[in-house]
Amino acid sequence: MALKVVVYGAGGRMGKTLVRLIAESSKFDLVGAVERENFDKLGEDAGVVAGVGKIGVKITDDQEAGLSKADAVIDFTSPDATVSHLESAQKFSVPMVIGTTGLNEARMSRIREASNVIPIVMAPNFSIGVNVLLKVVEVVSEALGSEWEVEIMEIHHHGKKDAPSGTAKKLAEIVRKIRGGKFVYGREGIVGERNPDEIGVMALRGGDVVGEHTVYFFGAGERLELSHRATTREIFARGALRAVEFVVGKPPRLYSMEDVLFGDK
Ligand code: NAD
Repeated sequence: MALKVVVYGAGGRMGKTLVRLIAESSKFDLVGAVERENFDKLGEDAGVVAGVGKIGVKITDDQEAGLSKADAVIDFTSPDATVSHLESAQKFSVPMVIGTTGLNEARMSRIREASNVIPIVMAPNFSIGVNVLLKVVEVVSEALGSEWEVEIMEIHHHGKKDAPSGTAKKLAEIVRKIRGGKFVYGREGIVGERNPDEIGVMALRGGDVVGEHTVYFFGAGERLELSHRATTREIFARGALRAVEFVVGKPPRLYSMEDVLFGDK
């Protein structure tokens, strides 16, 4: 039977992608499409707004819409909104998948508290490929040992405001946790020979690149490169839907994409 899903932020970039993928899949049914007060498309059909034609669910600012029959809710909105949606999900005991980023410690603590009552999957990056890369980099770093030199490079579109990307930082942290070392974010001038404990993290910017990450492992006489290339933002929505399938029926806890992909321990 199809899983009944409520999408918060249904008129946003991620929300519209989710509505479209849900409409195109037999595994999911949209039972609620929620937006903020004063959103300019309130009352319009969520499918029409997402570009897939009428699906019979109107965009509403009632944040309890559809919750009484929902199997799960997905939230890609803003930190404030996410915490408020959490109250509603908890009130109706509905599992939650959270993609919103930038939550401060107070909001995170509210999420941890709620995860004692409802199961929640939260991830800063829902891409399945990126989450598998994180795991593979951990295994490879352990296997190769500290004599292999590691450098990380990421490429993003010219509109990205932060550097290095959150994913590049996470990759670098995984490498450092296993072999130690210090991050080097750029090189210019007479920087001297590469220090063995350096982990270079470089950011390139240009064009419309959705996101690329490569971890280089340099050995003596050989080199291993692990790369992930994103060509569409749809990957985050696909990962979030995979998380929905995982979280329904799970005991209350805060889960990560690692739990979703590799099983929760
Ligand atoms: P967006 O601005 O296009 O969409 C956000 C939507 O949420 C907007 O339509 C907005 O009107 C709506 N919203 C705001 N307050 C609301 C409320 N109180 N109730 C209901 N809806 C409300 O942004 P986006 O690109 O879709 O990203 C949304 C969030 O998801 C951001 O925090 C972004 O960083 C994050 N994100 C995470 C991942 C991931 O893999 N975890 C991937 C992409 C984006």
